[in-house]
Amino acid sequence: MSVAENLSQVNASIRSAEAAVNRAPDSVRLVAVSKFHPAEAVIEAIDAGQTLFGENRVQEAFAKFSDIASRGYHFDLHIIGTLQRNKVRDAVKIASCIESVDRIVVLDEIEKQCAKINKTIDVFLEVHTGEETKAGFADSTELEKAVSLCAQGSYPHIVLKGLMTMAPNTDDTEQIRNSFRTLRTLRDTFSEKYAIALPELSMGMSGDYPIAIAEGATIVRVGTAIFGARQ
Ligand SMILES: *Cc1c(COP(=O)(O)O)cnc(C)c1O
Repeated sequence: MSVAENLSQVNASIRSAEAAVNRAPDSVRLVAVSKFHPAEAVIEAIDAGQTLFGENRVQEAFAKFSDIASRGYHFDLHIIGTLQRNKVRDAVKIASCIESVDRIVVLDEIEKQCAKINKTIDVFLEVHTGEETKAGFADSTELEKAVSLCAQGSYPHIVLKGLMTMAPNTDDTEQIRNSFRTLRTLRDTFSEKYAIALPELSMGMSGDYPIAIAEGATIVRVGTAIFGARQ
């Protein structure tokens, strides 16, 4: 199947997952995860109407999407992988959102690099919600401190939009559902406690996005189901 056909299937199943739980049509946005796939695959997706993409390695993202931009295409790019501090400079140049912030020092660096280029960027904080996944804030105290710093305006060039998680890689759908539920509950708690809107919940990948949509995802990050297996 072509990228265009896969995209239309994924979009149809997102719409039916929304409808199944009485959520408004188009309340869930699709991030097409193009890591390890070439610029040509991304362009096929853009030609089919997809505008939002996700990459987890900054170096790869920067090279690929600079090339795509130079060919006159428009897109929105989210960084979804663990970010080293020395990669933040390129990340904020190419992306509109960093979904995978997992340390306060990364927030500090994003602020510094965005200030230099006079750019305001969206961020999500990545939360460790499953037993098997290592990504995300290592402890809940630091996570909450990050929320509080953002809420009190410590980062003028950063807009904290929400939370992101990866469910454990398991066939146990209840475990997956619990991980998504944990993220939503945490969002509700922070949002109330710090009086900030945290509208975005980025959760759900190729194998589990319908569950994530049932649990309140506003963004799903789908790679394999659109672009095929990665080399
Ligand atoms: C690769 C990746 C995805 C997409 O995974 P698929 O299973 O290919 O859909 C989603 N989120 C993150 C953080 C990823 O690294």
